[in-house]
Amino acid sequence: MPVTDFSRVEKNLRDRGYTVKIFSGGAEAAAYLNGAIDGVSVGIGGSATVKDIGIYELLETHNEVYWHWTQEPDAARAGAMKTDVYLSSVNALAESGEMVNIDGIGNRVASTLFGHKKIYLLVGRNKLATTYENAVWRARNVAAPLRARQMKRKTPCAVGDGICRDCRSPERVCRGMVVLWGPMLGMEAEVILIDEDLGL
Ligand code: SF4
Repeated sequence: MPVTDFSRVEKNLRDRGYTVKIFSGGAEAAAYLNGAIDGVSVGIGGSATVKDIGIYELLETHNEVYWHWTQEPDAARAGAMKTDVYLSSVNALAESGEMVNIDGIGNRVASTLFGHKKIYLLVGRNKLATTYENAVWRARNVAAPLRARQMKRKTPCAVGDGICRDCRSPERVCRGMVVLWGPMLGMEAEVILIDEDLGL
């Protein structure tokens, strides 16, 4: 049973039109997704959460999966744009239900908006923020600097104190921010809440 109280965010997500599932850990979430996604094409966005729970290795045995973190990146990104199903994590989830994602190339945020029959949004408990403003703050000041550091970029946040300086560096990783207020019309969306610290 999950220890984190997801009840408020769960209600707010359902009120916005999302299907919501809650799991006590990444392994349980991965097992659920592996059962729910079968015999279809699947695209995956850049996601440390996806990597953490090992879902790619499970899905690729019985689906046509495109993921640029494990395959030739350009071909995988192109293939992932047109799949039946798309998996992404988010940089932050407000208790009021808004989901915030920052992107550098744009493939991930674009796929959360258009092009698929269904998207799954995977959210570890560490992504929860008490308000929308705090969710934006987390995406910009926690997730993005961590990603810049992980990618060994020479940005102020990565080589310095980890604080975002809204830089103009050519190596800037955060070039667009998308806020999901609800499922996009014509695309089913399911939020997977996981009671485990996952991703950045
Ligand atoms: S804008 Fe620059 S300093 Fe801020 S998080 Fe992005 S890369 Fe780092």
